[in-house]
Amino acid sequence: MFCLNDYYLLSHLRMEGKYFLRDSSYPINKHEHVIFRFSDNTELRYQDTRKFGRMHLIEKDKLMDSKVMKELGLEPWDKNLTSEYLQNIYKKKSLPIKTVILDQSIITGIGNIYADEILFLSKINPLTPAKKLSDKDCKNIIKYTRKTLEEAIAQGGTTIRSYTSDEGITGRFQNSLYVHEQAGNTCKKCHSKIVKIKVGGRGTYYCPKCQAGDE
Ligand SMILES: [Zn+2]
Repeated sequence: MFCLNDYYLLSHLRMEGKYFLRDSSYPINKHEHVIFRFSDNTELRYQDTRKFGRMHLIEKDKLMDSKVMKELGLEPWDKNLTSEYLQNIYKKKSLPIKTVILDQSIITGIGNIYADEILFLSKINPLTPAKKLSDKDCKNIIKYTRKTLEEAIAQGGTTIRSYTSDEGITGRFQNSLYVHEQAGNTCKKCHSKIVKIKVGGRGTYYCPKCQAGDE
């Protein structure tokens, strides 16, 4: 979220979006789609090889009424994010928790990688219908959402597909992943083999023993 004089610029990176600060003389590459020029001759360049990213320019006093903000649920660190809040919503949801935890209108900011990690640490099978989760499960989801995101942010995020050595910028959290993209590797907690399935169209990784669930 960029705070300008009269507007907020909201920018979502989606899968591959990245910002680079460049000198204006630096060659522009074909994947740099938006360039912000600054008075000191530097440029903030938005690069997006797959063009999944989104930007919204919204007048300042209209921010909270905007569609894009209204669609968002609670931030992971919001004090209103409680197990009661989750259970009230989850009790109406028969979909697998893996699908529901990605629903940005409930908790915002959990993507596919972190969803797998949060469910592993919470010892919840990704196929469990959300309405079957207990109070303890919901408390664990909140606890491990905060823990996982805090650690990932501290390590500069997770870089799986888009690492390019010439740019030299990469997060390090991929080295700390328990299950995501670990199919065939042994679980760090119980030594079973990590399994990959599809849930709601998304690649989903879990440990069949640590996350045995009801199935
Ligand atoms: Zn395990």
